[in-house]
Amino acid sequence: MILIPAGNASAWTGPTGNNTYLLPGRTATLIDAGVGSPDHLDAIAQALQGVPLAQVLITHGHSDHVGGAPALRARWPDLVVRQFGTGERPLVADERIAVGDDVCRVMHTPGHSPDHCCFVVGDQGGTEVFCGDLARLGGTIVIPASRGGDLAAYLESLRKVRALQPARLLPGHGPVVDNPATLIDDYIEHRTLRDRQILRVLKGRRAMPAEIADRVYGRLPEQIRNAAADTVLAHLIKLRDEGTSMNMMAPGRHARSAEPTLGRLKSRRQIGETLGAACGLWHRVANDVFELFEIRQESLTPVR
Ligand SMILES: [Zn+2]
Repeated sequence: MILIPAGNASAWTGPTGNNTYLLPGRTATLIDAGVGSPDHLDAIAQALQGVPLAQVLITHGHSDHVGGAPALRARWPDLVVRQFGTGERPLVADERIAVGDDVCRVMHTPGHSPDHCCFVVGDQGGTEVFCGDLARLGGTIVIPASRGGDLAAYLESLRKVRALQPARLLPGHGPVVDNPATLIDDYIEHRTLRDRQILRVLKGRRAMPAEIADRVYGRLPEQIRNAAADTVLAHLIKLRDEGTSMNMMAPGRHARSAEPTLGRLKSRRQIGETLGAACGLWHRVANDVFELFEIRQESLTPVR
């Protein structure tokens, strides 16, 4: 496996840009496409020593991971580009695919995006996971609720990958992760902490995600603040779905209170029973979040 940085350095992507991984061999494979920078293509060609690139497996459809596909195909016309949910040969969950001189298993790991996949190579003791934007060292992952991010699904995906007891994670950004279990445990704990922080802000009052983000994350640059607010929205949706709490409203003429009834519910059974009775309330809550979605979509800058 050869790590070839995509060269798209930025505050989002890291100092060397996205990581792409070349697996040379019988089926020369690249994990993620980068953004098509000529230096990136040259580095791949040099590592392949004249062998054509056979396939690219895409972890998810964000532009810093898939944007380079047309440039790669222009360079290697027989190239097969495979991605979950789109293209000529979409990836299928649990499918096994020849990569390099090995075989990988496709693991559907939605959360950061609905189409997110990890590629699992090796078996017990030596399992390695090409994990895209599931995890990275030195930061957490944006769960962009207004662009298909789903926090409950994300936590489930983290647990699925942890259960493999992988030896290493090979992420789309930042250094290789040599201690996946510790990182994933930290991530799960971090999200639980955020849940609690958000609920604390909402205690007894209503607040928009951006305001909650200011209170929870402190002062952030504008673009990162938007991403933080979008992740707060992902937390709110998860909390709403868990019936834990929902005490917020959309602004303007849509303003409507989501009565805090759901926040007082204790057990799942209680939630179920009350939901039946309080279907109207539930609808209003869902509606409030939906309206919030639309408002946020206008104001959000793209999040990678
Ligand atoms: Zn992404």
